[in-house]
Amino acid sequence: MRISPFHSPLRGIALEEVWHDHDDCPVARSIAPPDRVPGIAPSRKRCPYCALLDQPPPRPPQHLVSLRRR
Ligand SMILES: [Zn+2]
Repeated sequence: MRISPFHSPLRGIALEEVWHDHDDCPVARSIAPPDRVPGIAPSRKRCPYCALLDQPPPRPPQHLVSLRRR
């Protein structure tokens, strides 16, 4: 689920300093709520895991959908 962006003085399990906006992110989950600072850190990149979780779930390719209707 999408949450308000936050960053932290602690890196959690991330390899670099990033900010998060997804509560399913394993890195975000490794940072305890008291250690979270609300907002985007301009000097940091968005977490790649949060970006990945933001993608819509993949749909089956169209040619497979039409085969199923026959
Ligand atoms: Zn994240």
